Amino acid sequence: MSEGISQPDQPQTLKGESKDLFSKFDDMIALRESILSTGIEDPYNLVMEKVLSPTRAICNGRETILLGTYNYMGMTFDPDVIEAGKQALADYGSGTTGSRVLNGTYQGHKDVEEALKDFYGMDHAMVFSTGYQANLGIISTIAGKGDYVVLDIDSHASIWDGCAMGNAEVVPFKHNDIEALEKRLRRIPEDAGKLVILEGVYSMLGDVAPLKEMVAIAKKYGAMILVDEAHSMGFIGENGRGVVESTGVMDDVDFIIGTFSKSVGTVGGFCVSNHPKFDIMRLVCRPYVFTASLPPSVVATACTSIRKLMHGSEKRAHLWENSKNLHKGLKDLGFKLGTEEPQSAIIAVIMPDLQQGAAMWEALIKGGLYVNLARPPATPANMTLLRCSLCAEHSEDEVGKILAIFEQAGKAVGII
Ligand code: PMP
Repeated sequence: MSEGISQPDQPQTLKGESKDLFSKFDDMIALRESILSTGIEDPYNLVMEKVLSPTRAICNGRETILLGTYNYMGMTFDPDVIEAGKQALADYGSGTTGSRVLNGTYQGHKDVEEALKDFYGMDHAMVFSTGYQANLGIISTIAGKGDYVVLDIDSHASIWDGCAMGNAEVVPFKHNDIEALEKRLRRIPEDAGKLVILEGVYSMLGDVAPLKEMVAIAKKYGAMILVDEAHSMGFIGENGRGVVESTGVMDDVDFIIGTFSKSVGTVGGFCVSNHPKFDIMRLVCRPYVFTASLPPSVVATACTSIRKLMHGSEKRAHLWENSKNLHKGLKDLGFKLGTEEPQSAIIAVIMPDLQQGAAMWEALIKGGLYVNLARPPATPANMTLLRCSLCAEHSEDEVGKILAIFEQAGKAVGII
């Protein structure tokens, strides 16, 4: 049939010279296939078919206790938060369709920035579409070529990516090591621009930074200080302002980065600061300018949630109880944990290797418990972790059930 019909010219390729750009992932694909070929449930393909509450969902067809979300303060089902979102959806529509600097600033964006200023008692607040973008934007914009960024080696990916995008000289130091921080700072030229980046809580092991000592050292060397409080906002500190509050350094840090995707219970990111020139960021920070702003329903839920978190001391106390009980229970069962004492709402259970970690993860999910299976490169020192993150809405009874599921799974897999 096609005889006589001329074919369009085929693109010319020089055989043997082209490389499949996906070949760099071959090792990872092989490792993943070898684990899944054992018939194990895929830890990275979990589906929540129905969410029943901040602590329960139907996952892969089973009712499951959630111990691997960042819903620390359980705000996702707060009736006031949900009502605020519904009202904003009705009043403002489903999305802004634009950048904050063009048509994407609605009243709700201004309201949530006011709520953040009140929450932290700071002069300026700037809301981004995610916490990832907040780190990417602030770090890359303030620390450019010729400047130095001194950061903990275990910093979150968004911090590393912000450094790479800004082109500053990146100087990592050993995790939570006060002397290593000072040693690095001592070597940097005195007159250079310097930014020290720390996290309140490090999300893999759930350990807290020695902020008091580190902030004092950074100031001694004239560095500006940015603290990412993603995992401590809402929970740590008398008013939930984070480790900066609990260690008494609120007034000494230049920037606090945070997210709405954890204790606040929605999505978005922010930076608060007292720097008098901070507002210029709105014009020069590319991950703020060149992307659409958050939908009105999202900023409305965030605003209501943040204002309620200011009065969340009872929930904070209950979350501490949960953290202490789970930590003690797991330790008593014989599991190896990421910290000697509970330091946050994250408790990391250290697995001997990825295979046993995956087997343990599967035994837990089959027993009705979801935790995060964390592995390199996200984890420090090549560790495989079962990361448990608690919620203020977990009841004492649920913590007991969680421990019973861990005991059964740990014995079945041979880890305890
Ligand atoms: N910083 C830290 C320390 C984080 O753990 C995360 C997310 N896990 C982020 C920033 C990014 O937050 P978001 O989910 O809002 O992008």
